Amino acid sequence: MTKAESKPIYHPASAPDFVPVPLLRKLQLERLQAIVGRAYDRVELFRKRLGERGLTPADIRSLDDIAKLPFTTKADLRDTYPFGLFASPLQDVVRLHASSGTTGKPIVVAYTKDDVAVWTSVMMRSLAACGLHEGDIIQNAYGYGLFTGGLGAHYGAEGIGATVIPISGGNTDRQIMVLKDFGVTALCCTPTYFLHLIDRAAQLGVDMKSLPLRVGVFGAEPWTQSMRKYMESVTNVAAYDIYGLSEIIGPGVAIECPQHDGLHVFEDHFYPEIIDPETGKVLPDGQEGELVLTTFSKWAMPMIRYRTRDITALLPGTCGCGRTLRRMRRIGRRSDDMLIIRGVNVYPSQIEAVLLEVEGTLPHYQIILTRERGLDQLEVQVEVTPQVFSDRVGALEALADKLGDTIERVIGIRIKVTLVEPQTIQRSEGKAKRVFDKRGQT
Ligand SMILES: [Zn+2]
Repeated sequence: MTKAESKPIYHPASAPDFVPVPLLRKLQLERLQAIVGRAYDRVELFRKRLGERGLTPADIRSLDDIAKLPFTTKADLRDTYPFGLFASPLQDVVRLHASSGTTGKPIVVAYTKDDVAVWTSVMMRSLAACGLHEGDIIQNAYGYGLFTGGLGAHYGAEGIGATVIPISGGNTDRQIMVLKDFGVTALCCTPTYFLHLIDRAAQLGVDMKSLPLRVGVFGAEPWTQSMRKYMESVTNVAAYDIYGLSEIIGPGVAIECPQHDGLHVFEDHFYPEIIDPETGKVLPDGQEGELVLTTFSKWAMPMIRYRTRDITALLPGTCGCGRTLRRMRRIGRRSDDMLIIRGVNVYPSQIEAVLLEVEGTLPHYQIILTRERGLDQLEVQVEVTPQVFSDRVGALEALADKLGDTIERVIGIRIKVTLVEPQTIQRSEGKAKRVFDKRGQT
């Protein structure tokens, strides 16, 4: 029997996931008080904002008191670029990461030695929740560098005693060679890149189902349930959704368990709230709103009530896996993703879900927005299977109509659907760019 086969049901790293709720709440309050005190003493912006509200750290007497505290936003990180929100002197900072800003300067995040240890532990717990352990061979195709994905997954994988292949992103043919030749059992990458690998493997004549690959840990961008179905139908991979963001720690904020019914938030380190994005009011469990996170144990750069702009809900009830950590629904959309088309709010994920539910389409699509004579036009281009494409013309038209009808039912407006041949749409090696808004140019 190999080491991988003699695995226990639960990995020892997962022990904190099962802490009794009363104890967890007590720990959270202690940690909240400590981090608010630290930020107040050391971060000027936070002290100023508390002062404006007539508050001091002594006003945090219960977990509910967190709602009194001001939010932190991405703009705060930009305005204090690069080190303005640090609560540790640089000599205590052992690592800096930065997220690529789409415009202008990136945002910079810092870790003390203890922060890196916390990050490692939550990534160990994440990978353990996906059923990984000593003996697994993990190909880590997240980018290594300023992006937090690569190193985060790397430390977690080493921490649980797995064998890590730090291949980073790109060079797809080599990725497939390694998958095949090294007996890889788990893959960490963006869901988009996994689709690309599936595609390329087929071209190279590599049967993904013949590989020992059994677990995929996919994150850094939202992906749909339909995407999961597709991945699991063409490979033997159980696909797990992992959630994180650099501002909070990187990957390892929340993870799916084998129940695949929401993501457990590691709330002994990251406290989740759901707010109404308009009013800022905290919403009860089960209601959809914007996810706000507070870091309890990030010493170099505490984030108090950070507005993630991700839209989700905290799920009521307990999980069949026995973890006591609350779950959040998978992120379907970010408030920034919203497109306004002819006055109607449309999320690309709504369109994706429809595209993948209909037989004959492939999970490669793009959304193109233009403006013709002052009117917004939305076109979806989606690849179809070679069978559909070589079919008689009528079949293509029927499929396009069916997609058009279903999308109209979901989003409320009629859009143009164009079916294209396999391999027409550009593939991505990282996060996908699926929306092309050309309205400013027309
Ligand atoms: Zn669970």
